Amino acid sequence: RNQNRIRNFSIIAHIDHGKSTLADRILESTHSVDKRDMKEQMLDSMDLERERGITIKLNSVKLKYQAQDGLEYMFNLIDTPGHVDFTYEVSRSLAACDGAILVVDATQGIEAQTLANVYLALDNDLEIIPVINKIDLDSADVEGVKKSLEEALGISPDECIAVSAKTGMGIEDVLEAIVNKVPAPQGDIEEPLQALIFDSFYDSYRGVIPLVMVKNGIIRKGDKIKMMASNAVYEVTELGIYTPKELPIEYLAAGDVGWVSAAIKDIDKIHVGDTITHDKRPALKPLPGYRELTPMVYSGVYPVEADDYISLKDSIEKIKLSDASLRFTPETSSALGFGFRVGFLGMLHMEIFQERLEREFNQNLITTAPSVNYMVHLTNGDLVEIDNPAKMPERQMIKKIEEPYVMATIITPNDYVGNVMEICQYKRGIFKDMKYQSDVRVEIIYEMPLSEIIYDFFNRLKSSTKGYASFDYELSDLKESDLEKIDILLNSEPVDALAFLVHKDFARERGLKICQKLKDIIPRQMFEIPIQAAIGSKVIARTNIKALRKDVLSKCYGGDITRKKKLLEKQKKGKKRMKSVGSVEIPQEAFMSVLSLE
Ligand code: GDP
Ligand code: MG
Repeated sequence: RNQNRIRNFSIIAHIDHGKSTLADRILESTHSVDKRDMKEQMLDSMDLERERGITIKLNSVKLKYQAQDGLEYMFNLIDTPGHVDFTYEVSRSLAACDGAILVVDATQGIEAQTLANVYLALDNDLEIIPVINKIDLDSADVEGVKKSLEEALGISPDECIAVSAKTGMGIEDVLEAIVNKVPAPQGDIEEPLQALIFDSFYDSYRGVIPLVMVKNGIIRKGDKIKMMASNAVYEVTELGIYTPKELPIEYLAAGDVGWVSAAIKDIDKIHVGDTITHDKRPALKPLPGYRELTPMVYSGVYPVEADDYISLKDSIEKIKLSDASLRFTPETSSALGFGFRVGFLGMLHMEIFQERLEREFNQNLITTAPSVNYMVHLTNGDLVEIDNPAKMPERQMIKKIEEPYVMATIITPNDYVGNVMEICQYKRGIFKDMKYQSDVRVEIIYEMPLSEIIYDFFNRLKSSTKGYASFDYELSDLKESDLEKIDILLNSEPVDALAFLVHKDFARERGLKICQKLKDIIPRQMFEIPIQAAIGSKVIARTNIKALRKDVLSKCYGGDITRKKKLLEKQKKGKKRMKSVGSVEIPQEAFMSVLSLE
C-alpha cells in the first residue's frame, strides 16, 4: 500500500455534457469492467437514473491505473449529479476528493451548472482538470470553449484536454493528468481514525451501509467504531470497496474510499457529513461537517389508504438515509388525513423522491402542490414560518408576508435575451446584471421569487430559448410581497390540500384557471359538483362539473361484456391514485394542477 499513489477525484459537469460517458470510458480503459459486462452509464445504477439519463446519487469506484511512469495508481472515482437541485450532493462528494475533472461540452460551452460546480470545487480547494468533450462532433468549437473558460474562470487554454468520451479519443491524457495534477490524499495512518461519511444506503440484510473516505487512521474488521455526532457505537462486521462490484477487504486506511457494514439498524444514528472514529481511541474533533441544508420547497405526502401510514413513514426514513437533504414532519389534512410535510431542494428532487417511493417502496401516494416557506409577521408582533398554504393565518391577523427570493443566473445565446427577460419580468423578477461571455453568449442575473420559479419557470425558459438556455439559482433573501391565499371549494366544502398562495396581481387569473382545470380533471359523478375559488369569504371564480348522464352507465349493463370489463378495469386503475374528499373523488393530478396553469 502506498498512499502517494492514491488519487481521489470526481467528475463535474453541466447535465448532458458527458460526465457519465466519460466515467464509462475511464472504467473501460482501466480494465475495471470486462468489455462484455460493460453497459452504458455503469455508475448510474438506479433504474430511474438510466431512464431519465441523469445521475441522482453519487457512487464511488476504485480503479487501478498503470501510468506512463511505469507505476500503478489507485483511483477513487466519485460520480456526482449534474442537476441544479443536487448541488448539495455534489458538495458532499467533493469533500471526499482532492481533484475534479471539469467536463465541458465542446458544442455547448459553459453553462449555468458548469459555473456552479466549479465554484463548489474551488470552495473545497480541489485541483481542477478542464476537459473539453465531444470533439468528434462537427459542431465542436474547442478553441471557442477554451477562450470562454479562460475569460469566465481564469483557466489557461494550455491546461484544457480535448476528448471524445464517445470514441475514447484523448482519455489517456485525462488519466495521466489525474496522476500528475491531483495531489495524493494527505491524511496520516498513525493518527486516530477520522472517516467522513459522504453517503449511505439501507440494505435489508445488513442494515445501514455508510460510504466513507478515511481521512486519518485505519479502520478494520472487528473494530468498535463511534459516530461522532450521535455517539452511537457499532462493531464493524465487514468493509470493502466498489470495483464497481462490491469487494470485501481487510481494512480501509487514510486516503481510502469504501463501504462499512456494522449491523447498523437504527437509521437515525447515521448522518451524512458525520465522522466515524474509534470508540477506544477517538479523534479529538470531527472533520468539518457539511452545512445544514434548508429545503426550498415543501409538499404534503399522503398515503392513498390510511392504513399505509406507518409503512410510508418507514419508506421515507429509508430514502432519507441516502438523501441527507430530505426533511419531513408529520402533518394532518382534513381532506387527506394523516401524512407528512416533506421539504425538498427543488422540483426535480421532489419528483424523484415521489418516483422512488412508488417504485422502490411500492407506496401509493397523494402529493400536494409544492409551496415555499413564507415568513408571516402577525399583528400581535409574532413571527411564524408557514410551509403549507392551508396553515396561513386569517387575513386580519397578518401584518405582512415575506417570501424567499433567489438570485438566478441564466446563460443563453444572445438571440434569446429578449425572450428570457420577458419571462423573468413576468415572473416578478428584478433585473440585476447582464454580462457577455463571448460574442454570442450572455449571462443574465435576476432576483426572483422562489415561488415563481416553482411555477413553470424552467419549462417556459426552455421552450422560449429552444432549449439553449441554462439556469442555476441560490437563495438570496426574504422580501415582502402582497400575497393572497386562495381556497378551493368543492361542493361548497373547502379542500385544504388544494389551497395555494399567489401574488395579488395573479389571484383572479389563477383562480379562474384552476377552476377550469379541475373541471377537466375531476371525473364526473352522479351529482353536479360546483367548484369555487375564494379569497376569504369572497368567491373570485367558479365552474361546475356536470352530473354523469344516467344513460352512459346504463349502456354498460347487460351490454357488451368486454366493454364493461374494460370500463371497470379503467375505473379500478383510476382509483389507485384517487382520494375521496367528502363525497367527491379527487385524482392525484388535481393536487398538482396549480403547477401548470399557464
Ligand atoms: P451527463 O449528463 O453529463 O452524465 O452526460 P452523459 O454522459 O449522459 O451524456 C449525454 C449525452 O451526450 C449522451 O447521449 C451521450 O451519448 C452523449 N455524449 C457523451 N460524450 C460524447 C462524445 O464525446 N461525443 C458524442 N458525440 N456524444 C457524447
Ligand atoms: Mg450522468
